[in-house]
Amino acid sequence: MRVRDRLDELYAIGDGPGANRPHRSPAEDEAHALAAAWLEEAGLAVEVDPHGNLFGHAHRADAVEKVSDTVWVGSHLDTVPRGGRFDGALGVVAAIEAVERVGSGSVVVFRGEEVGCIGSRALCAGGHGLPAAFLELHIEQGPVLAEVGVPVGVVTGVVGYARGELVLEGRAGHAGTTPMVGREDALVAASYEIQRIRDAALTIPDAVATVGQVDVEPGGANVIPSRVRLSLDVRAPDAERLDALVAAIGFEPGYRVEPVQFAGSAREALRAAVEGCGLPVVELPSGAGHDAGILASAGVDAAMLFVRSLNDGVSHSPDELSSDDDVATAVHVLADALDRLTTR
Ligand SMILES: [Zn+2]
Repeated sequence: MRVRDRLDELYAIGDGPGANRPHRSPAEDEAHALAAAWLEEAGLAVEVDPHGNLFGHAHRADAVEKVSDTVWVGSHLDTVPRGGRFDGALGVVAAIEAVERVGSGSVVVFRGEEVGCIGSRALCAGGHGLPAAFLELHIEQGPVLAEVGVPVGVVTGVVGYARGELVLEGRAGHAGTTPMVGREDALVAASYEIQRIRDAALTIPDAVATVGQVDVEPGGANVIPSRVRLSLDVRAPDAERLDALVAAIGFEPGYRVEPVQFAGSAREALRAAVEGCGLPVVELPSGAGHDAGILASAGVDAAMLFVRSLNDGVSHSPDELSSDDDVATAVHVLADALDRLTTR
């Protein structure tokens, strides 16, 4: 199976274990070069934009050459450290299959998805025209499709998120000579804050909040912590719930991405393509950010297809897995949806 072979080739780039192609690394460049070779092999016209995003355009004789009339299909090739075989890579390899099979549309490979979708964000900020529609196939990175028992699902939208930090100030002191009563231990205070953040998220349906980093100063084993910084990542399916969560926790987000809904003809095309396979249409939101969310926010008729994750939906890990059969079904659905969007 060519898709599996190509995923293996991409997985072999960079040092193991897992996929190691972080943004701005030689491994990401190598992956883009490999994808460019596949685009040429597929007879597509290769282009790289000023942000390093890679394109492969199918030029049909009857095609209108305006970008705003085209359909893009793609994903990203950068990974987190020790990432999985499918995250991003599957969406790129499948896009090449789809565009080659259908003979229309463009493959797009975005830079730096794992570091805040900087490639798609830069592109949407201007300089390059945006397409009529965008399709992205991605591994689910969660257990829902496996629990329902279907190979693919149509994504309803991408949750919004806000990031920031909470800083707790205390007073440093000698771990041996400072009595327990009267201490101002910033890390003890932070432990209560972490519980409070969790409880705040539990009161809002489908909201999540995570403290993933704790920086302790001065950081000595025999020194009472004087200052603690907690990182915050909070997410919710709509702006109202995101606002409520930020307010409940009480922090000033340094970075915020609004929730988006996929509501156009691209999502309809994916639904029709799933039905065309004789499969039930299962729809689910995405809890992770994706390039498709960035394009949808910029007004593009974007949509996403998830393929079932095995291994309890683990992702950003070498244990990330989808079966060959599910991948084949997903590629078929993606190509059919592209066909429906480009041959009307
Ligand atoms: Zn991804």
